[in-house]
Amino acid sequence: MTADVTGAQRATREAVAVSARGLTKTYGRGDTEVRALNGVDLDLPRGRFTAITGPSGSGKSTLMHCLAGLDQPTGGTVTVAGTDLGALDDDALTVFRREHVGFVFQSFNLLPMLTAEQNILLPLELGSGRVDDAIRERAHGIAEALGVADRLRHRPDELSGGQQQRVAIARALVTEPDLLFADEPTGNLDSAASAEVLEHLRRSVRELGQTVVMVTHDRAAAAYADDVVTMQDGRIA
Ligand code: ADP
Repeated sequence: MTADVTGAQRATREAVAVSARGLTKTYGRGDTEVRALNGVDLDLPRGRFTAITGPSGSGKSTLMHCLAGLDQPTGGTVTVAGTDLGALDDDALTVFRREHVGFVFQSFNLLPMLTAEQNILLPLELGSGRVDDAIRERAHGIAEALGVADRLRHRPDELSGGQQQRVAIARALVTEPDLLFADEPTGNLDSAASAEVLEHLRRSVRELGQTVVMVTHDRAAAAYADDVVTMQDGRIA
């Protein structure tokens, strides 16, 4: 009986990549108080592509920052891969993010003097420091899924914006994070490059089993996701 309950609980935990309960975030005090998050309950499933969308100022970035452990909520809990982020101190949170969470931003943030391959492998070199053949092979598989396998010897300034962003996504995925957060990943791209990036992001979910949470104000971008969470006035609409 007990074993069954434990098994069921474990199954639930494994199916959910990140969850939030009663999440609030308040900026300022008194007259200038802003309730950026006003009681958010959320369970984002593992192995799916979720878009968080909504108008400017609705709380998307604040929600993402709280879910990713980049910012502390005023109230409520966030659980990532079974760990309550509120129970971690700053140092533990930094380690947790490094081991479990990947990030992609609007600006690609690639190192200009490194090739695409060196950029992709960088998190591993900074982490364990050892890049063996198996790891290199995995990185190539990720580059393949993102359609940049034939660009690995090029430096960022020899790549298009869309290719640079796909290299940045590969770099974020190479450590096999439990969760990849993408914050307006197509914000600096034209529509053709955006479509390409989103298509490949979706492929990384399908083919590599990744969990991707993308924040975007762009409905066309959100349409690529398996699930769409719409924010309105600090709540899920
Ligand atoms: P979105 O990402 O949907 O544009 P945000 O999460 O950035 O929304 O912002 C939600 C609300 O919180 C907005 O009213 C915004 O002005 C406010 N806000 C966000 N960050 C801060 C901050 N650091 N200080 C004060 N207010 C903030």
